[in-house]
Amino acid sequence: MKLLTFIYLLCLSSLCYGQSNHINPWETGKPAALPPVAGLSSGVWLKGDLHLHSRHSKESSNNAVAKIISFAKSVGMGFICITDHDNHVQGDVAQHTWLDPEFKSDSLLLLYGAEWTTTRGHGNVFSAQPYDHQRLFDVRDQRDVVIGAVKKNLNIHLSANHPSGKDHFGYSYDLIESMEVWNSSTWAKNESALMIWDDMLSSGRKLTARGGSDAHHGLPDRPELATANSKLVKTNYVGTPTTWVYATEKTPQGVINALTNGRVSISANPYAPRVEFYADINSDGKMDMMMGDNTMATGNAVNFSINLSGNIPSGNTYTIKVIKNGGEFGTYKVDGNKPAIGFVDAPAISGRTYYRVEVTGTPAPYPQVPGSTALSDNMIAISNPIYFNFDPSF
Ligand SMILES: [Zn+2]
Ligand SMILES: [Zn+2]
Repeated sequence: MKLLTFIYLLCLSSLCYGQSNHINPWETGKPAALPPVAGLSSGVWLKGDLHLHSRHSKESSNNAVAKIISFAKSVGMGFICITDHDNHVQGDVAQHTWLDPEFKSDSLLLLYGAEWTTTRGHGNVFSAQPYDHQRLFDVRDQRDVVIGAVKKNLNIHLSANHPSGKDHFGYSYDLIESMEVWNSSTWAKNESALMIWDDMLSSGRKLTARGGSDAHHGLPDRPELATANSKLVKTNYVGTPTTWVYATEKTPQGVINALTNGRVSISANPYAPRVEFYADINSDGKMDMMMGDNTMATGNAVNFSINLSGNIPSGNTYTIKVIKNGGEFGTYKVDGNKPAIGFVDAPAISGRTYYRVEVTGTPAPYPQVPGSTALSDNMIAISNPIYFNFDPSF
């Protein structure tokens, strides 16, 4: 009896439950090793739109492929992806959008893609070359693990569309490389997308944020061709918002790689300032990494640098908000005379840390889509994070 009482008391002291010596085998510490960060000088900034519908999407109007390409070139775009709905053609986007005689350009990079349009929501596919989209369409109602195997085999970049809106991406975020945190010119409806993105980043997923106008309607060639939606071309069209990528080469693959790696920021339109976010990790005064890059935290202080580039009138004012691990780290005011700030912080030596940037302020006019600035309001630009201790094998 005495022995039983002793064992009972021992259990109460939690030894039987193992709590006092418990080590969580899943605890995030530091990854074993990380590949070196890519250089900062051998690249080119390209801007584009990654969500566009042409006449091959049934509900689109006055939006021939050539019309989209010509407009994109006229506002200085470097790349676009025409992402027509695949359900309108039962998965056969190859014979429709990609085989359209107008699907060609001598200067604008055209990605191959489509909007994967399923009962569980929408995602965009991006690829540097044609791929068998039919297989992705066919597998859409299977379990995520089956879809993931097909997606891996197709070697495509998959991206969650409008995650906080109607037809949000209803699949596992383990299937995707990026997320559309800014869909169409209307900023207000995207704020919850940032919350979802922060949750996914905090979980350890290194997911790139991107934009997409989701524009469906072009300018009618003749007044009698106008539809009830034709007025939308003045509030939402190519470039609202604009996605910037820092590509190591001016090729479709260069754009996809930048997108996958996260060397990306989003601006309200093609003329809005671009936010750039860098870090000097060894305090030698030279920046060593930029948004999208991931390195091991040393416990030492890191010098961060943020600047806005583009044609910025000196009277414009901006608020730069730095977010660390989903929470606000600091807020800084700048103006057009010196649109740059720096800050110092020491990311924890163990566990994951990320920093990202949001810029609000004076909207930049977009004369070709004049109604868009009222809808993007004062949201100017969003950076991707700089990461510490994110495990690539997560
Ligand atoms: Zn959609
Ligand atoms: Zn769409």
